Amino acid sequence: MSLDVHTIIVMFAMLSFIFSGIILRAGLHTKSISCVRHWSLASLFIAIGLGSSYFFTAPPTAIAKYAILLATTLIAASVALQFTGIQTFKSRRTYVWLAILFIGLASFQTYWFEFVHPDIRSRAIATSLLLSLGYAICAGALLDDIKSSLRAASWFTGISFALLSGLLLVRAIFISQFSTEPYSLYSNTPINPITFVITCILQVCVTFGFLLMLNQKLVIELEKLASRDMLTGVFNRRQLEEEIARLHSRGKRSGDIFSLLLIDIDNFKYINDNYGHPSGDEVLRRLTSIALATIRPEDYLARYGGDEFCILLPATSADNALELANRLREVYASTTFVFKGNTIKSSISIGIADSSKIGIEFNSLVSAADQALYRAKHNGRNNVALH
Ligand code: GH3
Ligand code: MG
Repeated sequence: MSLDVHTIIVMFAMLSFIFSGIILRAGLHTKSISCVRHWSLASLFIAIGLGSSYFFTAPPTAIAKYAILLATTLIAASVALQFTGIQTFKSRRTYVWLAILFIGLASFQTYWFEFVHPDIRSRAIATSLLLSLGYAICAGALLDDIKSSLRAASWFTGISFALLSGLLLVRAIFISQFSTEPYSLYSNTPINPITFVITCILQVCVTFGFLLMLNQKLVIELEKLASRDMLTGVFNRRQLEEEIARLHSRGKRSGDIFSLLLIDIDNFKYINDNYGHPSGDEVLRRLTSIALATIRPEDYLARYGGDEFCILLPATSADNALELANRLREVYASTTFVFKGNTIKSSISIGIADSSKIGIEFNSLVSAADQALYRAKHNGRNNVALH
């Protein structure tokens, strides 16, 4: 089998051009994920960089020297963009100075070995070493502190970068140790076509890895949107029902009991009417933060609708639930909110249902807690009642 470097470069450049469009297209639906632009531009730079390296000749003409300078600068910029994209994806610092330093170093060494002190072999070794370092940094950024939900995609992309890094290191060692003089990108050295083909395959893996990462992040965002209340950020009713179903199946096995608290703000309409809707929203958020600070990490807080919240307390008896409900009611009632110059005081009423008496079916539990809540309101509000 004979591998022609020119043909590989043209194929690889065209593929990279297509990848740039595919990544950009995938990013149209992911407005919140800004790394898409970095990765798409990186693929475009690889395409143009490879396209210009096509014009390299040995011995190099003036045009060939500028072509290889442009090619190296663009390929280094593509690695820098891939890195800043990864950092953006992971909501980390992008280290723009490091990216600029990397591109500057790659350009400078190419300029030096092409124009000042012509030595193609040293240039090829230096470029390979620099790119190897760049890809190793990308691999490190991806494989460091991976979120469990993104594990598969991050590992796949990270390993592809690590292999790219290793490959370029081998190329640098091979050229320095074994290649015959005069060395050229298109000379009859097997390391060149081999590295180009494997680099091409690994860049395809990196592109698919990025798409996989985007896809997994989108799924996480959608799941979050579907399970959270927009105003307060806590679970919504749908998610609470799912949590109860999960506890239900666990309870069947372990015989666990749990309690459900239904909380309603007293005279909430008055707050809206007197201080305005935004103040009402703020009161809902304040109640959320007080409730979150009161419950245990294993408890679930959800906005049931309007000014009603639900707290699900796994493995909790009615007595313990009553104690927690009273604590929450007292803390909330003793808190004064100042919002837009208004001092707002408010109270809550809470109804409690206990799965050991009502059963574990969601609607029966809520309906029992609602009856208890009605009694708490009837007893003068700022009150707790057990079903
Ligand atoms: P009660 O003590 O009997 O509970 O009286 P209340 O005034 O609180 O009456 P109710 O619980 O029925 O009032 C719910 C109000 O909550 C009605 C609605 O305008 C308001 N509301 C529902 N959702 C929102 C919201 O997202 N933001 C704000 N600011 N108000 C909301
Ligand atoms: Mg109310």
